[in-house]
Amino acid sequence: MNQEFYSGIGYDSHRLVEGRTLVLGGVSIPFEKGPEGHSDGDIIFHALTDALLGAAALGDIGQFFADSDERWKDAKSAIFLKHAVEEVRVRGYRIVNVDVTVVLEEPRLTPFRDRIRNSVATVLEIAVRRVSIKAKTAEGHGAVGEGRSTEAYAVAMIARSESSDE
Ligand code: MG
Repeated sequence: MNQEFYSGIGYDSHRLVEGRTLVLGGVSIPFEKGPEGHSDGDIIFHALTDALLGAAALGDIGQFFADSDERWKDAKSAIFLKHAVEEVRVRGYRIVNVDVTVVLEEPRLTPFRDRIRNSVATVLEIAVRRVSIKAKTAEGHGAVGEGRSTEAYAVAMIARSESSDE
């Protein structure tokens, strides 16, 4: 049986507003603003959820968790990512690695990077070495650069043994 690899891409963006907690990859980060959103607005978990679902061609986060659904109001987004992990697992895939870029003007994420990596690895149930978290600023440009919003990009690689070339 051939081992086949599938990649998926995910993207998420939320407006940053006062009175919300900044949660990235399940880690609460002290800052005066946080993501506006129906759930906790965790852009890392949202982007990763779409990357995993995309790798297995299962659609996107909105099909599983509509933001009009009261059940997901202020929900911890680890629920969404865990669900995506389960969806790919039951189809026989294993997660090879994930790579995330967060675009955020401030605060600096370097002091939190290891905690975020560990948190993501725990939700994905994979080794930390398979999880990459990168951060950059928008250098003052646009809504992200002006601190009004934040974005995350994620790539996931999954693999499974295939019995045919279909
Ligand atoms: Mg989102």
